[in-house]
Amino acid sequence: MSTSSPRVAYIHSEELIAASNALPANVGRHRLAHELIRAHGLLELGDEAAEDDELEQEGQARAYVVEPEAATREQLVRFHDERFINTLLGLDTAASDSESDSGSASDSSSPAKPTPASFRLVSEEDRPTKRRKVDDMGLEDDCPMFSELSDYVQLVAGASIQAARELRDGSADVAIAWTGGRHHGKRGEAAGFCYVQDVVLAILELRLPPKPPPLPSRSPSPSSPNSRTSPAPYPPPIPSLTPIRRVLYLDIDLHHGDGVESAFYTSAHTLTLSLHLHAPLFYPSTGSLSSTGPTPPKGAFKPSPAAHHALNLALHPGLSSPTLLRLFESCVQPIYEIYQPDAVVLQCGCDGLAGDPCKEWNLDLEGMGEVVKRVVHGWGKKTLLLGGGGYDNANAARCWTYLTSVALNQPLSLDNPIPPSLEPDDYARFAPSFTLDVPAGHKLDLNTEARIVEVEEAFKRYAQALEEKYGKRKMDELEGKGAGPSEEL
Ligand SMILES: [Zn+2]
Repeated sequence: MSTSSPRVAYIHSEELIAASNALPANVGRHRLAHELIRAHGLLELGDEAAEDDELEQEGQARAYVVEPEAATREQLVRFHDERFINTLLGLDTAASDSESDSGSASDSSSPAKPTPASFRLVSEEDRPTKRRKVDDMGLEDDCPMFSELSDYVQLVAGASIQAARELRDGSADVAIAWTGGRHHGKRGEAAGFCYVQDVVLAILELRLPPKPPPLPSRSPSPSSPNSRTSPAPYPPPIPSLTPIRRVLYLDIDLHHGDGVESAFYTSAHTLTLSLHLHAPLFYPSTGSLSSTGPTPPKGAFKPSPAAHHALNLALHPGLSSPTLLRLFESCVQPIYEIYQPDAVVLQCGCDGLAGDPCKEWNLDLEGMGEVVKRVVHGWGKKTLLLGGGGYDNANAARCWTYLTSVALNQPLSLDNPIPPSLEPDDYARFAPSFTLDVPAGHKLDLNTEARIVEVEEAFKRYAQALEEKYGKRKMDELEGKGAGPSEEL
């Protein structure tokens, strides 16, 4: 386990915050989170801004800040359908045509604000039978069009892609894009408050060949002919960068990471493991314990290479941190050890925290921090930390601030007071505790011992199946046989 501070990249720009803040489901959330992170002195900023930070301390590790570029249309269609992207970016008339066709479409500049109750599944029968053109792209109900949508899509995707590049190209050990983690997004459809599938785009970027940093300009030759300093070799040696081939996607949001799972369902180079509430009529209703990946067609002799690469820790209401951590140890850790990814993407949606308006789970901040600690410092792989759900803005800000400090290997004290240097309106949002902590509530954990054992037994079987695949390949490698075609990653 590493005890030093990793190099942490934090993706941020004012434009990114402005666009993310406009997301109808989370208005104002990302600005509040960024302000709290900044006020705790966790970022490398210019001197002027740093002087304002009351909690800035000598020796405090800080994340370096990287401004994202807006994702281009070409980058977005690496995963998404062209027609869908054209509509999101306003390059297509489908949406505006449909609004004039329907005559009753809402004003795109002031969408009805979806509520977390939207995550209780809307059954198909309840949907209006007349469908507008945008309906088949999911741009209604919980994913309405809004005026900043084009900027939002490009910047949120660009932020997660930039974070992936920092890792891939060797600049960072951990990269953070709290605006990302839109895990319900589909190829040609918005869903569950998610328009753009930044997670998939980031994983695709991670797996591209690394690009070494640009060469520094040639330094001038020593002026004196008698100088004993020999000139530095030019060009300098290029650091060897190991390509990222295998990625573990771990999702601890309250909801199933269905969009990411379906994108990599038939691929063995990305193993998805989603830990979520699975209950009747609970959105998105996929991700049962027995759903583990593609099954071979009838009569096939060999399992699909991607079998058991889409795993689901399907849990019940009331999940507590002790249960979460027990399952991490008994189910997640063995999968990690067998799969041995080159990089990890951790979706840190915080709608499972106690106090979230979803009111389903009972996690505390310490438990979420422990998961991040085990992933970042226990595993020590290149790690991309993304946001996700979380519908209490103050608790989401607390959560991502604390997780940033955990990533830096200098966790803040959960008793820390909220810095009074925040703007008065922001400060008031942390009432009544005015501390960093999000403690557990009194909800009963319905994940009984019997259910936990059932989940653990299932995961033992899944781990065994993966061990057969990866253990055999390891043996082949040791014996110099190399991986066969079915082991292609
Ligand atoms: Zn969620």
